[in-house]
Amino acid sequence: PPLYKQRHQFVVDFVKKYKPKKVVDLGCADCSLLRKLKFHRDIELLVGVDINSNVVRRKMYTLAPFSSEYLNPANQPLTVELYEGSATEKDPRTKGFDLVTCIELIEHLPLAEVERFSEVVFGYMSPAAVIVTTPNADFNPLLPGCYGFRHIDHKFEWTKAEFQNWALGVCRLYGYMVEFTGVGEAPCNEERIGFCSQIGVFHKDSSRGGTSVISENMEDSSAYRLLYEVVY
Ligand code: SAM
Repeated sequence: PPLYKQRHQFVVDFVKKYKPKKVVDLGCADCSLLRKLKFHRDIELLVGVDINSNVVRRKMYTLAPFSSEYLNPANQPLTVELYEGSATEKDPRTKGFDLVTCIELIEHLPLAEVERFSEVVFGYMSPAAVIVTTPNADFNPLLPGCYGFRHIDHKFEWTKAEFQNWALGVCRLYGYMVEFTGVGEAPCNEERIGFCSQIGVFHKDSSRGGTSVISENMEDSSAYRLLYEVVY
């Protein structure tokens, strides 16, 4: 299957295993991952955020329940909320979730904003788990016709070492543990290159409780704009 499907399947498998109740997808684009996740009835609140409201609007109504879902409602209700907003801005409606996914998002941020993104996601939203995927620049020489970045909108592409260095720094600062994996395997003689899409799976380190306390302040007002909300 194409890489984007493998990345989404990675999240679906994680959700099946850990059964998060509240999930935010940052950079949700056309909501294709959210459409897959809405079938996992352990999820009670599914939130999508993207800076580009036009791309969200295109297919957001496909998140509405099917008529069969009205006839056979799940045990617990599901709420889906979509927002226009940036992963570098704080909004209280994204705090305290079980899982935040950032699938092919960070490479679209100016490098200077990555630190702010880390503070917002790990320090402020402070979810139990975070999944971050991004291209592995070490893999690019194996991609036919790939000389610069993989996409013109990418502001950077990190090597395996650069990604891991960022991730380990985030863990130290905000009290998380990370495991590295990926999708899209290198040919068998090139395994040291790593995966085509690199993935960091972060879990909050409960033994370091209280490290990520950000003072609750008055500027805790909503930054995101609600585009769509549906309750099953
Ligand atoms: N996550 C989706 C997926 O798995 O297919 C789409 C990834 S797409 C390559 C990157 C998305 O991130 C775009 O929809 C873009 O509008 C969004 N984006 C870029 N900067 C953002 C930011 N600061 N905050 C939220 N979303 C952002």
